Amino acid sequence: MKVLAVYPGSFDPVTNGHLDIIRRGSRLFDRIVVAILRNPEKEALFGLQERRRILQRATSGIPNVSVDSFDGLLVDYAQRRGARVIVRGLRALSDFEYEFQMALMNRRLDSSIETVFMMPSEAYSYLSSRLVKEVVRLGGSVTGLVPSEVELRLGARVGNRRRKATRKPATRAQRRSRG
Ligand code: ADP
Repeated sequence: MKVLAVYPGSFDPVTNGHLDIIRRGSRLFDRIVVAILRNPEKEALFGLQERRRILQRATSGIPNVSVDSFDGLLVDYAQRRGARVIVRGLRALSDFEYEFQMALMNRRLDSSIETVFMMPSEAYSYLSSRLVKEVVRLGGSVTGLVPSEVELRLGARVGNRRRKATRKPATRAQRRSRG
């Protein structure tokens, strides 16, 4: 019997930690569907279609991976797709409490679906989409932590926002030094 797994998340944006989990999952399961949660309550930096296209390109070298999006209950989505496994990544202890609750709630909702936790390489175990956005916003480099396409898009997006936010009239001293 073929085992289909769903790997749900926000992926705003995808990091090399997510890709590490996807690669590991692709070796373990016959097929893995990366499912982006459509969550109107969580304001995303990247739109749904953009996240979807980025993920598609980032996983195009892995044949048994596909990308989709969903809303509503994850177990309902998994059921519709015929998936018996939910994959989640586990980083530090801080992930554990929330993931434990989610896994047990999902089991209560549908006991035929099993949650499988996977650990990324330690190089990515401190990495999160939120931290990546924060570092770029503050002017730091995220090279090697996200696909290069994400790095470029983040630079453009966050850079634009920062320029807009900080555009102030030049001071007299600045005008004088510009001549
Ligand atoms: P969510 O909003 O569902 O937490 P994320 O996109 O942040 O969405 O994460 C999706 C899944 O990937 C979660 O299981 C999360 O724990 C896992 N994950 C996020 N970053 C990493 C990482 N660096 N290494 C391993 N797993 C990760």
